Amino acid sequence: MSKYNKCSNEIIAELKAIVGEKSVITDIDRLAPYSQDEVTDERYHHMPEVVVFPENREQVAQIVKLANREIIPVTPRGAGTGLAAGASPMYGGIVLSLERMNHILEVNAEHMYMVVEPGVKTQDVQKAASDAGLLYAGDPSSGDNCLIGGNIATNAGGNKAVKYGTTRHQVYSIEIVTPTGEITELGGLLNKSTSGYCLEQLIIGSEGTLGIITKATVKLIPLQKYKMDFLAVFPDAETAIATVYKLIKAGVDPTSLEYMDNEAINVCARYLKDSYPHQEDGNYLIITVETGTEDELDDKAVRIDEICNANGAIAMLVPDSKKIWAARRAFGDANREECYIHSPEDMVVPVKHLPYAMKQFMQICRNHQALGRVVAHAGDGNIHLTIMQGTIAAEEWSAKIDEIVNDLLIFTYSIGGRMSGEHGIGSKRKKWMHKFTDPVQLRIMQSIKQALDPNHILNPGTIFEIDQQGGAMCLKG
Ligand SMILES: Cc1cc2nc3c(=O)[nH]c(=O)nc-3n(C[C@H](O)[C@H](O)[C@H](O)COP(=O)(O)OP(=O)(O)OC[C@H]3O[C@@H](n4cnc5c(N)ncnc54)[C@H](O)[C@@H]3O)c2cc1C
Repeated sequence: MSKYNKCSNEIIAELKAIVGEKSVITDIDRLAPYSQDEVTDERYHHMPEVVVFPENREQVAQIVKLANREIIPVTPRGAGTGLAAGASPMYGGIVLSLERMNHILEVNAEHMYMVVEPGVKTQDVQKAASDAGLLYAGDPSSGDNCLIGGNIATNAGGNKAVKYGTTRHQVYSIEIVTPTGEITELGGLLNKSTSGYCLEQLIIGSEGTLGIITKATVKLIPLQKYKMDFLAVFPDAETAIATVYKLIKAGVDPTSLEYMDNEAINVCARYLKDSYPHQEDGNYLIITVETGTEDELDDKAVRIDEICNANGAIAMLVPDSKKIWAARRAFGDANREECYIHSPEDMVVPVKHLPYAMKQFMQICRNHQALGRVVAHAGDGNIHLTIMQGTIAAEEWSAKIDEIVNDLLIFTYSIGGRMSGEHGIGSKRKKWMHKFTDPVQLRIMQSIKQALDPNHILNPGTIFEIDQQGGAMCLKG
C-alpha cells in the first residue's frame, strides 16, 4: 500500500458525479469549519481537501469504494461537537458529512423503537420519543447540537447514563458502510442474541474507524410519571463526592447524579449572567429521580434528604430545574468563552475510588500550578476535569498540558480507571492510548482495524498512531 494520495480534479469530479455538484465543497473558506471539532488545541486541527454531503447509503458506499481505489482517507463527521478531535481529518482527504442524512424514518410507539438516519439531532430524537409518550434515554449535554450518528460512533454518555447506560445501551441495530464500501445491518430488534460476535457493539464507540453508520434503530422506553430534581450543596468536594456511593447504595436509583465544583458553578454563573445558591462556597450534587408513583417519589426524596444531611450537606434545595440544568450544560461553553486555551479531560474511575481520585486530580493540578475545574457524571465515576490556561504562557501550553495529562493518567490507570469515559480517543488521546493500553489489548484492537480496513482509509490517525514504513501506511506498534 502506498501513502495517501491527494484528491485530484478527476477525483473531485467523480465525487460530484456521486453526490451532485452542490454537495461537494472545495473552497478553502468553506472547508475551514470541517478542520476541527470542539477541541481548541491547534495541534489537532487539519484541513480536509474536500467535504462531501451524501444523502443515502449507496452514495456513502460509492465514496468509500472510490477512496479505497485511490487510497484517500475518509473522515466521517456528524455535528463536530466531539471533544477528542476524532472528526478532524488528520491526513486531509475527504470529510464525509452525515448531516444531510437527517430523517426520522419510523417512530414505532407500539413496539417502542425508532429508526433514524445518522444526521438527526439528538434533541430531535428525544422530542420525537416524548411526542410519542416515550423516552429516548441518551442525553449528552450537547444534545441540542450533536447528531445521533455521532453519539453512536462515540458511545456518548451524558446525564442519564447512571440509570439507563450509555448510547450503546439504547441501540437495537445499526446499518453501516464498511471501510471497504459494503453495506450491512448489524444487530436486530432482539433482546438477546448469541449468534457469533456482537458486531454492532464493536462498531458502537469505534469513532468512525471501523464503519460509517448510515441508519440506526434505537430503543424507546416508557416515560416515568413523576420526576424531581434535588440540589444538595456541600462545603467541599470531598464531602460531596463521598456521598455519591451512599446514594447509589441506598437504592434511590437516580436518573442523574451530577457534580459541579465551586469553580464550575462560578464560571457557569458568569457565563449565564445569573446567580446560584451558595455560589461563594458551595459544591453541588444535582440528583434527579423519576418514579411511577407519587409515594415512591416522596419516599426517595426523604431518603436523599437524610443521606445528604447525614453526610455534611449545608443545604438541601428543590431547585429551579431549568436554571440548574442550564448551568450544568453550560460548563463547556463557559470555559471556552472565558479562555480559548483549555483542555477538557474525561477520566473514568471505579466509583468506589471517586473521592480518592478527585483529591489526587486536584493535587496534580496544584503540583503543576494549574487551574482545574470539575463537573462530573459522578454516578458513573466520569470526571470532566477541565484544565484552564491560567498562568501558563501560551507558548508553554502544549508541553505543560501533556505533562499534566501524563500525571493524571498514570494515577488514573493505577486505580483501574481509563482515559476516556465518553468523549473517546480521537486524535487528541492517541499517544496516551499507545502508552497506557495493555499491549495485548492494543494489539487485538489494531488487528481488528487492520482486518476491517486494510488500506487504512477510514478515519486514519484516530485512536491509533499511523506510521509510514517504506512508503506504506500502517498502525504504529
Ligand atoms: C458543550 C458540550 C457538551 C458535551 N457533553 C457530552 C456529554 O454529556 N456526553 C458525551 O458523551 N459527550 C459530550 N460531548 C461530546 C460530543 O458532543 C459527543 O461526543 C457527541 O457524541 C459527538 O457527536 P457529533 O455528531 O458532534 O460527532 P462528531 O464530533 O462530528 O464526531 C465524533 C466522532 O464520531 C465519528 N462519527 C460521527 N458520525 C459518524 C457516523 N455516522 N458514522 C461513523 N462515525 C461517525 C467521527 O468520525 C468522530 O470520530 C459534549 C460536547 C460539547 C461541546
